[in-house]
Amino acid sequence: MKIICIGRNYTDHIKELSNEKPTDPVVFLKPDTAIALKGQPFFIPEFSKDVHHEVEVLVRINRIGKHIQSKFAHKYYDEIGLGIDFTARDLQGELKAKGLPWEKAKGFDGAAVVGKWLKKDSLPAVDQLSFELEKNNTVVQSSNTALMLWKIDELISYVSQFFTLKIGDIIFTGTPAGVGPVAPNDVLVGRLEDQELFRIKVK
Ligand code: ZN
Repeated sequence: MKIICIGRNYTDHIKELSNEKPTDPVVFLKPDTAIALKGQPFFIPEFSKDVHHEVEVLVRINRIGKHIQSKFAHKYYDEIGLGIDFTARDLQGELKAKGLPWEKAKGFDGAAVVGKWLKKDSLPAVDQLSFELEKNNTVVQSSNTALMLWKIDELISYVSQFFTLKIGDIIFTGTPAGVGPVAPNDVLVGRLEDQELFRIKVK
């Protein structure tokens, strides 16, 4: 399986990192080894002193497809989740400054937290989902999929022009504002529509 991630999909987060608003979705991949093992803490990697949390709504693909039109994209997933795109912001900054790929800063072991999955039909419309990340009992990121620049179905259509989507592939749909560093002993809790989908301790 592959993990396809979208960058810069919420205007408020683009502003907080002083990035330019993209004309097309920003796309990058994480290897499957980036997925955090269930029940394990997140270990801050030795190569970074500034690892940030990015809470993101996730979509799991359930049919093979390519060149999918937006209007048919809803047929390619029936589960929605929530996760964290952990990012070594210091290393990412160095790589961005040199125009180099981000993978080392975003694809390391444990950098993709994948929470519990919820059936799409048990939820409100996918473009109206509220979600939040709590760090040590304080909400640090809170948003709604209505604020995405590119909606879930548009993202599926866009990425499937480049990559064949296969059963089990996961799309990280981008983070809203409020990203910030994690430190040992932090506890991160993610909720979608008030349901807790992950709880992870930082070491
Ligand atoms: Zn992200």
